[in-house]
This record gives sequence, structure tokens and C-alpha cells, in this order.
Amino acid sequence: PVRVRFCPSPTGNPHVGLVRTALFNWAFARHHQGTLVFRIEDTDAARDSEESYEQLLDSMRWLGLDWDEGPEIGGPHAPYRQSQRMDLYQDVAGKLLAGGYAYACYCTTEELDTRRDAARAAGKPSGYDGHCRDLTAEQKAAYEAEGRTSIVRFRMPDEAITFTDLVRGEITVQPENVPDYGIVRANGAPLYTLVNPVDDALMEITHVLRGEDLLSSTPRQIALYRALIELGVAKDIPAFGHLPYVMGEGNKKLSKRDPQASLNLYRERGFLPEGLLNYLSLLGWSIAEDRDIFSVDELVAAFDIEDVNANPARFDLKKAEHINAEHIRMLDVKTFTEACGPWLKAPFAPWAPEAFDAEKWTRIAPYAQTRVTVLSDITDNVDFLFLDEPVEDEASWAKAMKGDPAALLTTARTNLEAADWSDAESLKNAVLTAGEAHGLKLGKAQAPVRVAVTGRTIGLPLFESLEILGREKSLARIDAALA
Ligand code: GLU
Repeated sequence: PVRVRFCPSPTGNPHVGLVRTALFNWAFARHHQGTLVFRIEDTDAARDSEESYEQLLDSMRWLGLDWDEGPEIGGPHAPYRQSQRMDLYQDVAGKLLAGGYAYACYCTTEELDTRRDAARAAGKPSGYDGHCRDLTAEQKAAYEAEGRTSIVRFRMPDEAITFTDLVRGEITVQPENVPDYGIVRANGAPLYTLVNPVDDALMEITHVLRGEDLLSSTPRQIALYRALIELGVAKDIPAFGHLPYVMGEGNKKLSKRDPQASLNLYRERGFLPEGLLNYLSLLGWSIAEDRDIFSVDELVAAFDIEDVNANPARFDLKKAEHINAEHIRMLDVKTFTEACGPWLKAPFAPWAPEAFDAEKWTRIAPYAQTRVTVLSDITDNVDFLFLDEPVEDEASWAKAMKGDPAALLTTARTNLEAADWSDAESLKNAVLTAGEAHGLKLGKAQAPVRVAVTGRTIGLPLFESLEILGREKSLARIDAALA
């Protein structure tokens, strides 16, 4: 059975790269009816925060990415927070030391630096040189008598390591490129290099799907896994698949500090979770050559890690918005009407809470649903219904009131006054005939009316907007524009 994991460190805000990794693991697990383990890698007390932890959980829930084992729900390998598993790592580190798979290294940072610089200058490999690999008991005692502390260093085998990456195919790494590496700090704190593969082993992870930035740690982890198997701690080495980099502006790697990378940004702008997931799934994967809109269920049914492309993926905000818009169109109108809720109140909406009119909103929502790209677009589109005065968008006024629209507005007002306000068609005819009287096509004739009533040149269908705002308010606004 497939067992995959999503194992973020709780630092900073959730970002696009992290969510893409979570999504691919989730889709892979669901596709194979496997298990998704959610593990929190909080062994870096200086950088980890409880707030980030809460945000991670919240983001996963918002996206609808559920987990089968992990925080809040537990599971057979609990606890799922590394900070609560320290005794397990200590135990494994002890076994690795006792078995000779790891050793105490007494080299100081200065010594390491000096030797690394010398190796570089001589054109030799500059990784750890194995200085403390085979210290005798006397040498160790002497170092300790000097007051030196030691880290635990893993002994890499002197042979090439080959593995088949699920995305990249066969990869071979020569021993000189993978020096012995630290797994426990001098203060006893275990490092990522140890805790991550140890937990993967203990939690019986079958597939490790993660970002390309971690590719270089894989040969080390495979060597560690082999030791863990010999020690009886691990059963099998998992398969590894490294997801391609995501490139942002200027074809540079999208960094987690990039504002575009922040998940909260998409949430606040009113991306639908399903729209965002659809888009993120295309960062390195595709469902078919000629298709880019699909549901989460379709993604799960089709997802195959072997179809992930090794080439860097390009983050394209326009495409993300287009895809989101398509998902907005697919909602049933009631769901859409409810989903807009947050953007119809403070801090997004500029009108007083009591000015909101649910009935008017329900009537205009269907027109908005076919037009907005993100849910936050809704606020500007409907503010004319709930504000006492329409916003005064100067550019719109300048544009629509060019020339002298007073004559046209006066005729339009007269016609509108006599029109049937329960019928948008009748309102349209009122403006159409006013335009005809002044030699203007409907498009030109309706622009000043729109600006007078809504404050903007663009917005939802005008005559339905007028009908919903109502006769009295609409006429009063035209009067105000004429005054
Ligand atoms: N905690 C690591 C990170 O967030 C996990 C890396 C991995 O998937 O192995 O980068």
C-alpha cells in the first residue's frame, strides 16, 4: 500500500511551492487509495513557530487537502510532530554510533574551514575529509580532555549510489560528491539529515515526493536507509520523486519570500480552493495536452507521478486567474453567492454593515458570477448597491462625461422615468431611444448613465443593475450628475 508524507517545517507563511508539494502527495495518495501522513518537522526551535503551524493546518483545510495520519487526528505512528519524538532520534543515533555507521567528530569549525580552503586551493573535493572517521579510544579521550565537543557524523559508503527517481529516471552519485555528514549537533539536537529519513522509515513511507531542492540529500538518505535496514529500524528504501522547480518573474526560481508565492495572497484575493488546486497541479504536470480545466476528482483519477515533467515549471498569474474564473463559472449560483460572503463585509467592503441588502445581493449575484475572475472582484462590482453615493472614480467620469453628456442624460432620465422598472429590457429601450435622439449608439449612450449611477465605466450589465438598484435611487443619481 502507498504511504506518502507531507512534512513541512512550520516557518513563515505557507507558499505556492509548499502547497504544490502537498497537492501532489495528496493526489498520489488518493489516486492509489493510499495514506497521506502529515508530519510537522519542527526541530528548529529558533525558526519554527506555533503560528506557522496553525497556518499550515488551516491552509490544508481551506484547500480541502485532508490527511489520514497527523496532527489533530493522530495515527499508529503518533506523535506526528518531530519536537515530540526526540527520544526516538536519540535511540537511532545511539544505534548508528554503536554499529559503526556513524562516529563522533571533534573537528572545530575553524579546522573544517581551513582544511576545506586548502582542498579547494589544491583542486580537490572540498567536503568533509574523513578526519575523525577512525579515531582510536585514546585519540577521542585526548580530544575530550582538551574540552572539545563532538557532533555525530554519518559514515558514507565508499561507493557510488544509484537510484531511479520517479520523475528524473536513473541518477548515480559518486562517493567523492557525498562526504560524511552531520546528523546530531554537539548539543545533542538531531538534524534534518537524521530525523527526516528516520521518520520516513518508522512511518513506513513508500514514496518520497518533494521539491527538487532536496535532490542532493537523497543519496545521503539512501545510505542512511541502508544502515537503518541493517539495524532493523527500516524495512525498505522508499521510492523518490523530485518535483521540478517553480520559476517566477524573470525566469528566476520562485522564492518563498516572493509576494507572489504567498498562499494567503490567493486566499485574500478570493481564489477558490479548487481553482488554485487546478492551477497548482499544472506546475509540473498535465492532465492532457489540450486541457487545463478540471476538477479535483478528475485530478485524483488521472494523477500519475510518472507524468510529472522534470523541466522547471513557470508560474503564470494570468493563467491562474483564468483557471480560477472558469471554476467560478462552474459553481452553482447558491454556492457562489455564499462564497462571496467575506468580500461583502469589512475589511473588504466599504459600505456600512447595515447598508448591505441580502435580497439585492442575491438578485445581482448571477450577473457577477459570469464576470469576476476572483471573488474579491465582487466588492467593486456591487458597491453601488450599498453605498449612499456611488464611488467617484475620476478616470471614469472624465472618460464617460467627455463632451457634454447633459443633453443625453436629460433625455435618458425622462425616458427612464416613464419606463417599466421591473423590466431591464424596458430600461434598455429608454436609454437606446435617448441615444438615437442624440445620434449615439447604445454603447456610447449608456456610458454616462452607468457612470452617474455606479461611478464606474465598467461593471455588471447596466440595465439589470439599474433594475436592482431601483427607480428612485437611480433617477436621483442621474439628477445629481446633472446638477
Ligand atoms: N521539512 C522539510 C522541508 O520543509 C521536508 C523535506 C522533505 O520533504 O524531505 O523542506
